[in-house]
Amino acid sequence: MVNTTVLGFPRMGSDRQLKKLVEAYWNGKVTLPELTSGAQKIRASSWDQMKSLGLDFVTVGDFSLYDHILDTAIMFNVVPPRFQEHFKNELDIIYSEVASNTFDLSKWQDIYFALARGIENNKSTQNNCVGEQDCNNQKKDGGLPSLEMKKWFDTNYHSLVPEISSESDYKLVNLSLVEEFEHAKKLGHNARAVIVGPITFLYYCKLKDSLNEDSNKYSHAKKLIKVYAELIIRLENAGCEWIQFDEPILSTDIDDNIKEYFQYFYKNIDLELENQKKNLGVVNYKKKIKFLLANYFGDYNDILSLALELPFDGYHFDLVYGKKDLSESLFRNYSTDKVISLGIIDGRNIWKNDSAESETILNAALKYIPNISAISGSILCDESNPKLNRSLDYQSRKKLQSEIFKLPLLPTTSIGSFPQTLELRKYRQQYKKGEITKDEYDEFIYKKTEQCIQWQLDLGIDVLVHGEYERNDMVEFFGENMTGFTTTKNGWVQSYGSRCVKPPIIYADVSRVRPMTLEITKFAQDKAWEISNNKNIRVKGMLTGPVTIIQWSFVRNDVHISRVAEQIAYAIREEVLDLEKNGIEIIQVDEPAIREGLPLRSENHEVYKKWAVNGFKLSTSGVKNETMIHTHMCYSDFNEILPLIKRMDTDVLTVENSKSDLKLITENCDFAENYHAGIGPGIYDVHSPIIPSKKEIYTRLAALLKVFEKDALWVNPDCGNKTRTEEQVDLSLKNMIAVAKELRALI
Ligand code: GLN
Ligand code: ZN
Repeated sequence: MVNTTVLGFPRMGSDRQLKKLVEAYWNGKVTLPELTSGAQKIRASSWDQMKSLGLDFVTVGDFSLYDHILDTAIMFNVVPPRFQEHFKNELDIIYSEVASNTFDLSKWQDIYFALARGIENNKSTQNNCVGEQDCNNQKKDGGLPSLEMKKWFDTNYHSLVPEISSESDYKLVNLSLVEEFEHAKKLGHNARAVIVGPITFLYYCKLKDSLNEDSNKYSHAKKLIKVYAELIIRLENAGCEWIQFDEPILSTDIDDNIKEYFQYFYKNIDLELENQKKNLGVVNYKKKIKFLLANYFGDYNDILSLALELPFDGYHFDLVYGKKDLSESLFRNYSTDKVISLGIIDGRNIWKNDSAESETILNAALKYIPNISAISGSILCDESNPKLNRSLDYQSRKKLQSEIFKLPLLPTTSIGSFPQTLELRKYRQQYKKGEITKDEYDEFIYKKTEQCIQWQLDLGIDVLVHGEYERNDMVEFFGENMTGFTTTKNGWVQSYGSRCVKPPIIYADVSRVRPMTLEITKFAQDKAWEISNNKNIRVKGMLTGPVTIIQWSFVRNDVHISRVAEQIAYAIREEVLDLEKNGIEIIQVDEPAIREGLPLRSENHEVYKKWAVNGFKLSTSGVKNETMIHTHMCYSDFNEILPLIKRMDTDVLTVENSKSDLKLITENCDFAENYHAGIGPGIYDVHSPIIPSKKEIYTRLAALLKVFEKDALWVNPDCGNKTRTEEQVDLSLKNMIAVAKELRALI
């Protein structure tokens, strides 16, 4: 018998109902009971939609008010000590109620959001740490930092990072999943409970162990098994027939240690259930509830045979991103009494499904014939293409450029954007609604740009930017000015918490329609010359690179992605050459998403690197050797992608580096040893409202100077200034520039 289902359903609602509801709660416009009933309504309407579409099962547990990893953490009492302390009274009440088997979900709500958003001066902030960097978890300004965030595998969604240690006291303290299941059941749905599997959960956890330095976070699976079993028993008692264990970590290259705990957990979970039942006085317990192992985002690869030996009742295969499983050993060891779940629709893109292809896959699967070969696609870019390469190497270019630019040591610059103020956003909205004319809007944008130039000249920054006031978004803006792109009204995708983005859709061949940034960049450069009366003042042109444009869009799937990258690269190349022709001598092509696009399995890395590097080089290498090319990247382990970075052959790379406590020189000392071009490690964190002190900046720069060549080092914030206030930017840049000047005189 064949059933239809989904692994999960979008949380936000078609009109971002969830975002609006949650934010209204944060702003005090909605009460806790209203939040609870509002969330219930959104879930119920998703279930209705699933049912009316004809699905045989609906999913429960995939919904979340903020993030599903946080939900899992809260369910199992994974609350960092700083929050335990802060919410001591509240938690004492919760724990004593739990001990008497009472679970009041509403008591968790504020603790839950506090972990997600932090607490600053007694009020919550939306100031998470993104990436693996350390927030050092000290009370800042009397507040508490939120949990960090980490990209959800190779997507643009950010999960929270729970903190565990040998002192973690795992216990089942929150039964929202069970309540949601009961709700779905009451509404007449055939529901499957979705939970984050322990190994994927631990992959997102951060070990903060002061007691046990050598401890291994995956060994916590041994402790977690108790609480998972308790939850499973409660779900079974509630009438749940299937649990889906999400373990997308299986789509990555996992080591023996992870494999060992994966095996341990699932081999022993049945025994743990029996023991717990025995303790509850149930003899001869026969497990009724069934387990589905759900791996997605890729193939099982070498873990498949191991996984098939474990006592799962069914397995999910991602036959869109993990087609390789189907071509290899999928059916060889597959026992016929197990359920097989085949993912045939691309849940990560927006295209209508190709039913003919799905039929082929399903037929092959049904006949147990492993005859579908993985779609590999050809790689169209070629690094030996003469259009790719610049004619001189970095050192020779540097010589030429330093004679022309005459920049001081430790040149100062910024990453590009300046604050998108309330006033600016109001103008943009009015323009979009047709309430003001294009001329009125442009006049405002140009006025802001001119002010920004004056501001940077007053600050004494060495390489200026125009401020990016004309762009709402660094990808959308370019999409609007190239063929082959379209945008949606409501195509929202959750980025983190209540934050959503609306990726453009690349549906056809891409080419540049018109110069995109030329006019405003030239205007800024002319103003800089006019105001300063100094031709040595340069404004850096600011573009988004092909990889980031692709990563943050829905990409057409009828041609290989390398082809799309190449087309975008040619469009950006035209823009770069236009800027150069018009006197812009420093051009930055941003690639913040380059790390995020790296495939989950290392065997696929080279294919990606080829088209990514080629796309970037095609965009930038048409310029003269005298023109300086910058790029910017954020939230990556830069050491990991160093070979890729080197292949991009830029003159200056600016990177996010401040939140991670200078990871370029501490964790990743290899970087400084092996990277030999201009480098601007972010000197302070733009995502925090805190103004970096001169002392702090000085310490950081001095540390950097110990490992990087002094004439290779640039001084800049770690990312764009777009989300800060003008006052914060002013004070931060003032401190940054003052320290750079002081140090210059000393080195
Ligand atoms: N130039 C962009 C800006 O300053 C870069 C943004 C980014 O790194 N995501 O906003
Ligand atoms: Zn950035």
